[in-house]
Amino acid sequence: METVDVVVIGAGVAGLTAARLLANADADGDGEPAAGRRVVVLEARDRVGGRVHTDRSGGHVTDLGASWIHGVDGSAVAEAVTAFGIRTVEFTVGGYQVDSRPIAYHGADGHRLDDAAIHRFSADVHTVDATLADVVAASGPTDTYRDVTERAVAAQVWDAERAERVREHLEHRSEEQYGVASDELAAHGLDDDSIDGDEVVFPDGYDALPTHLAAGLDVRLRHVVHSVRHGEDGIEVTTDHGTFHAEAVVVTVPVGVLQSDDFVIEPPLPARHRQALERLRMNAFEKVVLRFPERFWDEDVYAIRQLGPEGRWWHSWYDLTRLDGVPTLLTFAAGPAARAIRGWSVEQVTASLLEQLRRLYGDRVPAPSTVQVTAWQDDPFARGSYAHMLPGSATDDHDDLAVPIDGRLHLAGEATWTDDPATVAGAMYSGHRAAEQILGRDVPIARLWSGALNGTT
Ligand SMILES: Cc1cc2nc3c(=O)[nH]c(=O)nc-3n(C[C@H](O)[C@H](O)[C@H](O)COP(=O)(O)OP(=O)(O)OC[C@H]3O[C@@H](n4cnc5c(N)ncnc54)[C@H](O)[C@@H]3O)c2cc1C
Repeated sequence: METVDVVVIGAGVAGLTAARLLANADADGDGEPAAGRRVVVLEARDRVGGRVHTDRSGGHVTDLGASWIHGVDGSAVAEAVTAFGIRTVEFTVGGYQVDSRPIAYHGADGHRLDDAAIHRFSADVHTVDATLADVVAASGPTDTYRDVTERAVAAQVWDAERAERVREHLEHRSEEQYGVASDELAAHGLDDDSIDGDEVVFPDGYDALPTHLAAGLDVRLRHVVHSVRHGEDGIEVTTDHGTFHAEAVVVTVPVGVLQSDDFVIEPPLPARHRQALERLRMNAFEKVVLRFPERFWDEDVYAIRQLGPEGRWWHSWYDLTRLDGVPTLLTFAAGPAARAIRGWSVEQVTASLLEQLRRLYGDRVPAPSTVQVTAWQDDPFARGSYAHMLPGSATDDHDDLAVPIDGRLHLAGEATWTDDPATVAGAMYSGHRAAEQILGRDVPIARLWSGALNGTT
């Protein structure tokens, strides 16, 4: 058995943030790392980053997990990225905005909408959005996002077609933002859905962030944790490569792992934590990245979008050509679509997608040169892409999960951060909070990129 001060489970952004701040802790303010604070990070995979994962096969850089910083203003992730010298490219279409940047809209009949029609449609979405916060605030405890959006749309005096287009947009927002149909999402499930400043993506891969955060840390890859036992004697963490003893543990595994029988916490979590956990669920949300031999869409748009029933699954394609000049579209199988394509071959997914793109662009659409389809639903160490709030949950459920247990057991990770769950930012802030809880004092988050360990990057 190996003995350390703190075991951190999971080398995603939450775990690496916690570990880095703990290892960088300057207990007496003399600029030296605090003596004796040994931190080990146990990670099941053969890489760090967790749900931030960049693929580099075929000479292309493809983010298969997170892509965006959803708003750089006031974001610690953006500050870290700048401090580490990681390149970014502006791409402010990551929040299912209706008109944040130019989008090539196609109507329900497949024809391109002119600017006036796009403006009318966008104005309708903004009209409903302007009332939605109040409708959500007045909602009942078990109302769904569909209930509140239906109410907000019904309050408009619109003909059926006009109302349907907006209803559809709000449905797709639930699916694309949270990977779930709106009747399975809590009414408050998109309360956090705000973006401050531009959004950016990563031409050299988002994984540069976790790589920098991990530098100099004691990260044990390929260590699958099976159990965490906690009590008067401290913490005992059992892995397939031995047992670790510590005074404190930070558990950052995704909600889906925490809910599974493969990850045991003994004694079990207190009722408050268990109830909060039961009201969160991992989503179904997959990326499809298509590279083409040539571009068949306009150069000056950020995305292609189709309205109407044909866009039930495939409605939005994001133009990633700006990253490296290779004509590339990113789309999502989100919610019901992700569940339906589970187990499909890449060829099946491609055929289904091309049918829709050819409906809009005809024979100009060539066969893609490469297609990548993710399978986060089937990933045993993720079990989905991120957690969403089930009807009956409260936004505070996220923070409730992070209340320290007996001063030794700390849960962190995207799902434990109320203000910005389901994001890299939420993961980072939750790791920061866990480190502060263990240290019993405030630590500037900037120590992530300016602390003593940075000499080793
Ligand atoms: C397809 C997709 C798109 C996304 N898009 C965005 C986006 O554009 N912008 C954004 O901000 N966020 C996005 N996200 C969400 C974002 O990636 C996550 O919120 C964030 O990375 C979660 O970090 P974390 O540290 O909480 O969890 P993770 O990154 O999941 O880290 C947990 C770690 O625990 C490890 N682990 C699990 N089980 C065990 C075990 N038994 N033993 C040991 N280790 C274990 C895992 O391997 C993992 O490395 C996206 C996610 C996905 C999947």
